[in-house]
Amino acid sequence: MELQKAAEDVYFVIGRNGVPDAENEGFMSNAGFVVTDDGVVVYDALGTPSLGWKLLSKIRSVTDKPVTRVVVGHYHADHIYGLQVFEGHTDATIWAQNRYAQYFEGQGAQRRLKQRRQALFPWVDEDTRVVRPDETFGERKTFEMGDKRIELVHVGPAHAPDDTMMIVHGPDVVFSGDILFDGRIPFIGDNVDTKNWLEGVERVAAMDPPPSTIIPGHGPAEENASRAIDFMRGYITKLRETMGEAVKKLQPFESAYNQVDWSEYEGLPAYEATHRRNAYNVYLELQGQ
Ligand SMILES: [Zn+2]
Repeated sequence: MELQKAAEDVYFVIGRNGVPDAENEGFMSNAGFVVTDDGVVVYDALGTPSLGWKLLSKIRSVTDKPVTRVVVGHYHADHIYGLQVFEGHTDATIWAQNRYAQYFEGQGAQRRLKQRRQALFPWVDEDTRVVRPDETFGERKTFEMGDKRIELVHVGPAHAPDDTMMIVHGPDVVFSGDILFDGRIPFIGDNVDTKNWLEGVERVAAMDPPPSTIIPGHGPAEENASRAIDFMRGYITKLRETMGEAVKKLQPFESAYNQVDWSEYEGLPAYEATHRRNAYNVYLELQGQ
């Protein structure tokens, strides 16, 4: 894990490409933090407790200010299993958008934890648990801490119900969360809203003034993130168009999927693990409408 600097007092780490496995030890998502005079604000806690520790040690390598707040960009396993470290070893309050609660509806959260205890053992094990936030916010929340003004913007339901971007005003650094993936096929789950997701992508694209750096949920950070924006726009649009056409014609998923030329995406990381399921979830989403 290598600490990178987006601007004065704004840092981030970039996970590897692909899906979580024993080789990457679950380090396949991004996180970051802002150092203020009054403490440190963290965005996302990564996908295992040991990665949470590692992130905390990276924070300690640049400041001894207390960690006062952890903002959860959305409740998905790869961004939250490090929370227990911040809960247990700092005085930080954990903040999440109020739709986070949907993550705990049904058996999904427990099933995912069980899956990760196998796929990521021993980094995720019996001691790993899902930590709930201390406080929640609604559509938009701006706060000042020390010399920094930070804005949280709810852009979900898109990739997840509670997708939240964090904008650090002044240096104008944006943590987009999983609205943006770069360098791999994104994960499209079964309660996705791809129309809103596209709108979220356009909201990032239309930011004025353009952010100095955009840190996506997955993949490398960029100045204007135009590559990640183009990629996400193209990928989601293609899924919506092809699967939408199939739904309209009452064509079964299987034959519709096989008819489409996916070659432009075939070589990308996470393609085998996620792409077909992504298409299926978009098919079901549009069918439901
Ligand atoms: Zn993610």
